[in-house]
Amino acid sequence: MKVLLVIISTFALVSSYEEAADFDSFQKLKSLGVDISENDKAANGTLNCCFACDSLARSFGSVAVARAGQSSFEEWLSGFWSAQQSETFPACLFRPSNSEEAAAAVLLARLTQCEFAVKSGGHASFAGASNIRDGLTIDLASLNEVTVNEDRRVVSIGPGNRWHDVYSALEPKNLTVVGGRVASVGVGGLTLGGGISFFSNLYGWACDNIVNYEVVTASGDIINASATSNPDLFWALRGGGNNFGLVTRFNAYAYPQGLMWGGDRVFPIAVNSSLIRKFVDWGRGRNGSVEDPNGAVIISYSYDTASATWRAINSLDYAIPQPDGNHPAAFDSFFDMPSPVFDSTRTKSQSQLTLEWDAATPNGFRQTFWTLSFVLDERIISEVLQIWYEETEPLTRLNFTVQFPVLAFQVITLSQIEYMSRAGGNALGLPGSSEPLLIVNWTYMWNEESGDDKVLETYARVLSRAKAAGERLGVNHRYIYQNYASQVEDPINGYGPESKAKLLAVSQKYDPTGVFQRLQPGYFNLKGPPLSPSQAKWSS
Ligand SMILES: Cc1cc2nc3c(=O)[nH]c(=O)nc-3n(C[C@H](O)[C@H](O)[C@H](O)COP(=O)(O)OP(=O)(O)OC[C@H]3O[C@@H](n4cnc5c(N)ncnc54)[C@H](O)[C@@H]3O)c2cc1C
Repeated sequence: MKVLLVIISTFALVSSYEEAADFDSFQKLKSLGVDISENDKAANGTLNCCFACDSLARSFGSVAVARAGQSSFEEWLSGFWSAQQSETFPACLFRPSNSEEAAAAVLLARLTQCEFAVKSGGHASFAGASNIRDGLTIDLASLNEVTVNEDRRVVSIGPGNRWHDVYSALEPKNLTVVGGRVASVGVGGLTLGGGISFFSNLYGWACDNIVNYEVVTASGDIINASATSNPDLFWALRGGGNNFGLVTRFNAYAYPQGLMWGGDRVFPIAVNSSLIRKFVDWGRGRNGSVEDPNGAVIISYSYDTASATWRAINSLDYAIPQPDGNHPAAFDSFFDMPSPVFDSTRTKSQSQLTLEWDAATPNGFRQTFWTLSFVLDERIISEVLQIWYEETEPLTRLNFTVQFPVLAFQVITLSQIEYMSRAGGNALGLPGSSEPLLIVNWTYMWNEESGDDKVLETYARVLSRAKAAGERLGVNHRYIYQNYASQVEDPINGYGPESKAKLLAVSQKYDPTGVFQRLQPGYFNLKGPPLSPSQAKWSS
């Protein structure tokens, strides 16, 4: 009953969008310029992915479609971040050059019941997330506009952009948007899952800075979702991921921005307890929130194979440039430390900073991401670090030539949470939290396929030990950040029952036959993750 009341009150402004009862895919495909005949209609029911790929090539040109064996296909596969995604071979890939072509691809997948995946920057780590075996992969790379509107308040961004493209286009205009911190990460996945930026304490997460989404629905309609147009869909897209449609344009708030200040300070791991204390103090501020919202702080830990040493890394970023040799006063405590072994903090452009972060995370290796959230607490950080070290240290003695485990901590500050109520709020289920939260992100990069089970089994164990520690300390939080989650975690459940019920209602309305749920199995569906823990032989 309570859930129902929330749905009714939140969606007071619901739109009247509805798929026609006599919806006809053939008619719609023809209207979208797809070359499809009466014979094809007669064969309906036996059509498959191959038919979808052939139709796309016939209708939109063979250069828009690539298949295994073609050199463009091999090159395209290497554009995924993780090796696991690059090893996934679709029946074909299709690169739409506009929203109508993207709509045609979704409808052809629906007509032929061909499973599909959508790729923006291709940085989701596990196989199937944005590339699908034997199915249709829709690569949005050609939808790459970055256009500032006349009053310089909004930027239209195509989902084919990487964040470096966006910042480089905006920097000459002294503008920025709230987006990713690593150059080659895509606009699409990051924004649909949330999106933590250098400037999130100033302006909120990326999803809370979208004014309008242009969306291809399961019926091939191209509609807008904003606070005034389809507001229920607008709410759902703010964190609900790829479950409601294919987004062909994001309109984001623009902010004035010149140079900024930032970089990493690297220490031997021995500094660790002092660093944790400073980090928690910064995240809590004096009154529960960060005192200077221009700043962003991450602490992380990693193993350096070359020197066989464990390191602590303090990433400090600040929206305002600083004179040479100076740091922002907000970070005084972080500078009251022994000298770092490496320090890249200085004034630079945002695009430059994203390239520096990118350098540590190249394409082509095996990758895994895992996450949990807690109430911000010094004890849980220390325990999680200890658990991760105990479990990961034996892995570093295996014979991989490349291995790079990282454990990172970030605060979801109260100022970030406040922005989550903007314009009807988002789907993440976080407003209401009176305390800052902690996002933990475990990642591992390695290069031997033979190590897959070992790494994943180890991280599954790290996760369950961390949960047990959180339980004991009373600091567990249900939230699971979609953009950092592994294939066995369930971010939508982590948004809480009210949010999940609303998301299911929005999906039922905009996609009554469940095209995005049934035919797009590789990422985080509303009903569960792509792999149930019981299916994963390495999961504990
Ligand atoms: C090196 C690295 C750095 C990162 N840095 C940050 C960071 O600073 N902040 C942060 O919050 N997160 C960060 N992340 C996490 C990142 O946000 C996620 O990995 C995100 O999914 C990547 O987006 P993408 O478009 O590159 O991925 P993709 O793999 O292309 O997409 C991810 C999912 O989103 C779906 N999708 C993408 N675009 C669309 C669209 N237009 N319409 C419908 N569905 C779509 C895809 O189908 C797929 O299921 C980082 C990840 C990596 C690997």
